[in-house]
Amino acid sequence: MNVSDLARQLKTEPNILLEKLPLMGFAVGEHAIQIDGSQVDAIVSAWNQYQKRERLKQKIASMQAQSETATEQENAENQPIQIPPTITVADFAKRIKIDVSKVIIKLMQEGVMAAFNQRIDYATAHIVAEDFGVKTAPGAPEAATISKETDIKDILKKEETLSLRPPVVVVMGHVDHGKTTLLDTIRKTHVADTESGAITQHMSAYQARVKDPDTGDMRPITFIDTPGHEAFREMRGRGGRVADIAILVVSADDKIQPQTLESINVIQTEKLALIVAINKIDKPEADIERIKKQLSEINLTPEDWGGETICVPISAKHGKNIDELLETVLLLATVSELKANPDGTLYGTVIEAHIDKGLGPVATAIIQNGTVYVGDAILCGETGGKIKGLLDYQARPIPSADPATPVTLLGLKTVARVGDILKRVQNVRDIKKIKKQHSIKVAMQKTQTKSEGEKREFTIPIILKTDVFGTLEALLGEIDKIKHPRGAIEVVKQGLGNFTENDVLEGDAIGARLVGFKVKPTSGAEQLLRNRKLVLVTYTVIYELLDYLRDELKKIIPVEIVEEPQGEADVLAVFDKSGKYLIIGGRVKDGMITPSSLWRVFREGEVLGEGSIAELQSNKQAVNIVRAPHEFGLKVRGDLVIKEGDILKFHIMKELE
Ligand code: GDP
Repeated sequence: MNVSDLARQLKTEPNILLEKLPLMGFAVGEHAIQIDGSQVDAIVSAWNQYQKRERLKQKIASMQAQSETATEQENAENQPIQIPPTITVADFAKRIKIDVSKVIIKLMQEGVMAAFNQRIDYATAHIVAEDFGVKTAPGAPEAATISKETDIKDILKKEETLSLRPPVVVVMGHVDHGKTTLLDTIRKTHVADTESGAITQHMSAYQARVKDPDTGDMRPITFIDTPGHEAFREMRGRGGRVADIAILVVSADDKIQPQTLESINVIQTEKLALIVAINKIDKPEADIERIKKQLSEINLTPEDWGGETICVPISAKHGKNIDELLETVLLLATVSELKANPDGTLYGTVIEAHIDKGLGPVATAIIQNGTVYVGDAILCGETGGKIKGLLDYQARPIPSADPATPVTLLGLKTVARVGDILKRVQNVRDIKKIKKQHSIKVAMQKTQTKSEGEKREFTIPIILKTDVFGTLEALLGEIDKIKHPRGAIEVVKQGLGNFTENDVLEGDAIGARLVGFKVKPTSGAEQLLRNRKLVLVTYTVIYELLDYLRDELKKIIPVEIVEEPQGEADVLAVFDKSGKYLIIGGRVKDGMITPSSLWRVFREGEVLGEGSIAELQSNKQAVNIVRAPHEFGLKVRGDLVIKEGDILKFHIMKELE
């Protein structure tokens, strides 16, 4: 085949094609005119891949540029810099980004003689920072001996050697669109079975191995199974960010739903690379184009519609196009150049934590930099401990875990929280010191929130228990949102695991209901329950549990009836009074009148009486509504004191939701 014909077919120039072919692994000379027919198909396919990758590269470059501008803007907003109660001069200089020698000179001018490794207090630091035009705010005490970087970005900036790491992927989307099915299918087809085959625990992450179509190498992809958007919020609140890529599942037999939009919101806030998996394409009613049209309508125009959104039609249930989806993930990962230093500072984020009957507190984390080893002294949010064991995602003991690896940590003293950051400390004693500082901070926060929150008249006290920590946190966040000016749900006790006899006794003593998620009463607790009028409910679906609480709260708060203004009218004429009724004519000045409106009559600004409507007319016909500026006839009952020239104000009574 002629090079120029092939170039035309590939929508490029012959010289560009000839320049790229050797780079793509085809032995074609720089000045070739003909291409061997047997190579054409392979070249077309490789060229399409190459194009796809170039598009992705451009997209990622533009995303990175955007995120850098955003960070610059954030910095430019002159946020106060947090300074702990005491800090070394060197650290202080680093925080305010001023040369340490200049800081020392400024300190001397202020009458403080301090070397770079000596500590100064917040008040001194604040004055010096002000002299440099830098705003500061009192921050938390420094953690004893751990690195002071709080962000994975800071850690990575300091690492000298970085190597590629596997991508971390989350699957998101509306309920029933197929997230679980997709994760299960990938698990079945791309995760090698354990020897025992018995993964009984709740595993919140796994690694799939996928063949890279370019290199033929098997590459790992880490999938995490987050309990929901709330978990993302929690993680962000604690500085955690684990995922790189989001697969947004949208069902081709449905449409973009509210939860799809919520997911997109999270994906954009978290700055995740996006792949839309248009699922259930095996169904006869599937309509891929309809989904693409809807995506275009919300500024996510698919690539084949001239936009930038990568869409892969799949059937999660029948395993169709799953390889293509996973290859796209690898492609995105390659061009995103996801890197970490396995030998560097340890940093990881907890994605799930619970108490295991046999193992005690366990936490599953994604390692984001460095490597965690059995025997390490680890600080993890407000908990920590010496690592007694590490388990991989198939619950097999492993000696260490490196970047992008999901790992379950054994040996923490208490249960960690979703989003807690994992760091290495020099020895276990440091953990105690740091924990004390944390607990003071938490106590301070608690007193603050207590004084802020006013006591409500109607509350439902509950004891809340769940199977895993992630759900407990998600539920607490959501329950906090169930509020009414006069009522709220009050979680008096929370915890993990089944309801115990203690829970029943406590619930009974304080009149609290026992509300559980994927837990049940122990047999002892069940016996105790039999003789008591205690409410115990358990759910396996989060929103059903929340609906229950909302409904119960509604039941105990008395309905409030409020007045809602409807309109105002001038009385133009008053006709005869017949028994209990008065017939009047008028014009609506503002708003409207309906037959169920109630009225009050005003003369010279003073209210003289009130009543209701027996009939509303317009042009001598009974009607259901008359709006401004139309005239009306009215048969009213009540205080029949109305005169020509009076003003009638209308309202209705409504139940407040
Ligand atoms: P999730 O709520 O998003 O996790 O959705 P699920 O994975 O639980 O799927 C909801 C329902 O859709 C289940 O009955 C699945 O069997 C079904 N489903 C998921 N993927 C497919 C698919 O590709 N084709 C068909 N026909 N059904 C699917």
